[in-house]
Amino acid sequence: MFSSHQELLLRIVIVSLLSLSSQYQVISSPLGDGLHRDGKRLTPQRLKVLNLFENIGSGNHLSAEEVHEKLVKISAKVSLATIYRTLRLLVQMGLLHELELSEGGHRYELISNETADHHHLICIRCGRTEEFENDEVLEAGKIAAKFNGFKLIESSLNVRAICPECI
Ligand SMILES: [Zn+2]
Ligand SMILES: [Zn+2]
Repeated sequence: MFSSHQELLLRIVIVSLLSLSSQYQVISSPLGDGLHRDGKRLTPQRLKVLNLFENIGSGNHLSAEEVHEKLVKISAKVSLATIYRTLRLLVQMGLLHELELSEGGHRYELISNETADHHHLICIRCGRTEEFENDEVLEAGKIAAKFNGFKLIESSLNVRAICPECI
């Protein structure tokens, strides 16, 4: 049997292999208990935020305010400032994807294989976000990267628009 330390090391190796084999970071263990990435640790606070995204499922895009509201509802005593910091950190750790909206707003979503290579239609008034897929956008990204000798990481399109309720 492995000791818990060996098990953690093994898991880090597996995660590293997974991230090498795919251009997207795969969350192999949903709560990645105590896993370090780039020297950053998944503290209980960070896990709580990550857990929230895992529970609502992929395809959901939450603002920092919405994350804060939901966490306060399930008893967590946490400030909005901490949520902002935590979200930024989870983005740096490759666990969340940050969507920049107009007027400096941000929304966050879980990075997973299911949601790889999708695009966003974003209402500039209420922030409603819908996902769509389009192979031509991916192809255009691939061609542009190749033409300029860049190594492709991802191609995604954010379309700013006004939703039916806000027109
Ligand atoms: Zn999305
Ligand atoms: Zn709207």
